[in-house]
Order: sequence, then C-alpha cells, then structure tokens
Amino acid sequence: MYSCDYLIIGAGFAGSVLAERIASKLNKKVIIIEKRNHIGGNAYDEYDSYGILIHKYGPHIFHTNSKFVFDYLSQFTDWIPYEHRVLANLEGEFYPIPINRLTINKLYKLNLQTEDEVKKFYDTVRENRFPIMNSEDVIVNQVGYDLFEKFFKHYTYKQWNLEPKDLSPSVCGRIPVRTNDDCRYFTDTYQFMPKYGYTKLFEQMLAHKNIEVVLNLDYKKIIEKIRFKKMIYTGPIDYFFDYKYGKLNYRSIRFEFKNFEQEYYQPTAQVNYVDNTVKFTRVIEHKYLSNQNSKTTTVSFEYPQNDGEPFYPVLTQKNIQSYVLYEREAKKLKDIIFCGRLAEYRYYNMDQIIARALKLFWELSR
Ligand code: FAD
Ligand code: UDP
Repeated sequence: MYSCDYLIIGAGFAGSVLAERIASKLNKKVIIIEKRNHIGGNAYDEYDSYGILIHKYGPHIFHTNSKFVFDYLSQFTDWIPYEHRVLANLEGEFYPIPINRLTINKLYKLNLQTEDEVKKFYDTVRENRFPIMNSEDVIVNQVGYDLFEKFFKHYTYKQWNLEPKDLSPSVCGRIPVRTNDDCRYFTDTYQFMPKYGYTKLFEQMLAHKNIEVVLNLDYKKIIEKIRFKKMIYTGPIDYFFDYKYGKLNYRSIRFEFKNFEQEYYQPTAQVNYVDNTVKFTRVIEHKYLSNQNSKTTTVSFEYPQNDGEPFYPVLTQKNIQSYVLYEREAKKLKDIIFCGRLAEYRYYNMDQIIARALKLFWELSR
C-alpha cells in the first residue's frame, strides 16, 4: 500500500501547478501518476535527433494578460521574448492571419489606409447574424461570407470534421478580426517562451521533496493500492467514469515531423493551410519558437483525426450536454477534484488552466 495526502493524476499544467503549490505551501505529500513517459502534458518539448527543440504535441506559445500567472511561472523559468506570427496559405499565396488591413488589401487588391476605411469595408461585407449561435455566425457577422469561406470554413472542417455552424461560437471566436496592420497572433501583455523550454520549467516546478512522480502508469492500474486524502484528476472525465454516459468527443492530431537540410522552411513559425487542397491544417517550423540557430530545420505537419490521444474538446451542443452529465457526477465526489482541459472539457489555453489551478489551490488551502 502506498499513501499520500494528495494523489494527482496527470503531470500537465493542471496537475503540476497544483502539486507544486500543495507540496511547497501546505507541506503535504503528493504523488503524481502520469501515463506518458514524461512530465509536461501537451506542453512537453524535447530536442530531436537534429538538435532542434521541438514541441511534440503542437506549438505551445505562452501568452497571458495575467501578471499573477506570469509571476507565478517566472519562479521556475527565465524567459525569452517571443511574439507568434501566423500566415494563412490560400491557394499558394500568403496572407496575415488574424485577418487585418494587409490581408484585405492583398486579397482584394485594395489600398485601404486607415482603420476607419477598413472598418467601413467590413461594414459593406458583413452580414448581421443575431443572436450569434455558432462559429459561422461569429465570423460572418464580422467580415461576411467570402472571408469566412476563404479563411475559416475549410480549415475548421479539416480541424474538427465539422462545419463551423455546428461548433460553439467560442471556437472560431478565439481568432480576432483587426482593422490595423498588427500581424501578431496574440496581443496579450505577456508574450514569452521559457528560455530552456517547457520540460525544464516542469522539472523545476516538480523538484520538491514532497512530490513523487510516477511515469508510464495509468492510474486505474494502481488506484486500489494507494491510500490518499484527496485526489485531483486531470485526465479525460469520461474515462474516469468508465464512459457510463458514452464517450465524449475529443479531437486528436497526428504530427508528422520532417527535417529539411536548409536553414528555413517557411517565412513564419506557423502557416495555416486554409483551403482544402491539402489534408493537413498547419505547418509549424519549430526553431522559430525558441529563436534557435541551426543549419537544418524541423517542421511538423498537423493532420487532425478522431483516433489517438485526446487533445481538443469538440464543442458541439450535443457534446457539451453529454459533458454536463459527467460534471454532475463529478460534483458528487467530494474528495475528488476535476481540473484541466480534458477533465473539464474546456478549450483552455495554458494561462487559463494555470489560473484555474491557482484558484483551486486557494480554495483548497482556505
Ligand atoms: P494536459 O497537458 O493534457 O495534461 C493531462 C495529463 O494527464 C497528460 O499528460 C496525460 O497523459 C495525463 N493522463 C491522462 N489520462 C491519464 C491516466 N488515465 N492516468 C495517468 N495520467 C493520465 N495553450 C496555449 O496557451 N498556447 C498554445 O499555443 C497552445 N497550443 C496548443 C496546441 C495544441 C496542438 C494543443 C493540443 C493544445 C495547445 N494549448 C495551447 C493548450 C494547452 O496544451 C493546454 O491548455 C494545457 O496543456 C492543459 O493542461 P492540462 O494539465 O489540463 O492537460
Ligand atoms: N481557425 C480557422 N482558420 C485559421 C485559424 C483558426 O478556421 O486560420 C479556426 C479553427 O476552427 C480553429 C479555431 O479557429 O480550430 C481556433 O484557432 P486556434 O489557432 O486558436 O487553434 P489552436 O491553436 O487551439 O489549434
């Protein structure tokens, strides 16, 4: 029999932040069980055989408006400034995404100069959609059908295997529409990358005498042998309940990594292939993310799929309703806390899950 105060399932941001706080501030013994062979969850990075730092589960860009979250993480890492830039590849041409003044001018061969002119342009093409019910409405309401069709419709279908009209407005609503020529993907106050990578950050976070990490183990294989006072679960909620209300949809991705013997592959870290001439959604050139110099370059092609590890909650009305059944069950379990992107079926960014874990810790420690 093993014993601890807190048993935590999953060593991603949700599990690791809570473990760090509980171990260092409450001086309690924590065991983390992680089924993968590494810590860090989907933020995990590693050097490939060409010496390039790669994000194994897709690009993870740290951005937040929360000083609290930034200060918290800064205890475990130094930072390098990094502002993410994305181009859309539409029929072989590159356009800034989020859509901005430069996108409009290039696409429609216009020469709009001021933000006011761009706003007036959107007013001539946008369709009033009220109420905003889905991911098509949220974009068409701002920029009209043509821009929606070119930049959102096909990419979204490839990513989710669903039409935007079948997805919550919050999905495409993550992407702003701009009237200026700001080509940054995010405009948050704090935009940085951990200087030595995410895995090192996690190592720092978990290096506490009260924390024991067990890798390569599905918690269900050992749960009967562990005595604990509280459990924090960050894995998929439907798995926890043995799929009693059916499987929730999570979208996965197959990452195809390739190394090219050339210095750079593409003009920005990320290129989104927004038409349906290719099956992959986006191509990431990893060296940009850590500002690394190297003679060769490693890129990853993302092919979304249903099978495989769960990465994204699929936010349709039906899935959200099924999740609520699980959430109700979860609330009945007073000594088990559900926290995380998979456990709460929410499309959290890293900063949001860190904020959520810090808030949960505060509630626990009162
Ligand atoms: P996870 O990181 O998924 O961690 C959960 C852990 O639980 C995993 O390690 C898993 O192996 C483990 N686990 C699951 N089941 C079990 C089990 N039965 N037994 C033991 N362990 C188990 N956010 C940003 O802020 N910026 C970005 O640029 C960004 N890009 C992203 C790109 C992609 C492709 C994806 C998928 C996500 C991206 N995110 C990004 C979101 C970010 O990954 C999440 O917000 C964050 O990882 C959530 O942390 P978590 O701890 O909830 O989940
Ligand atoms: N999206 C799109 N075209 C783009 C970028 C995004 O249609 O060029 C849509 C797509 O549905 C995507 C969602 O907006 O899944 C959110 O995009 P984001 O870049 O935030 O996705 P993530 O990085 O989380 O995969």
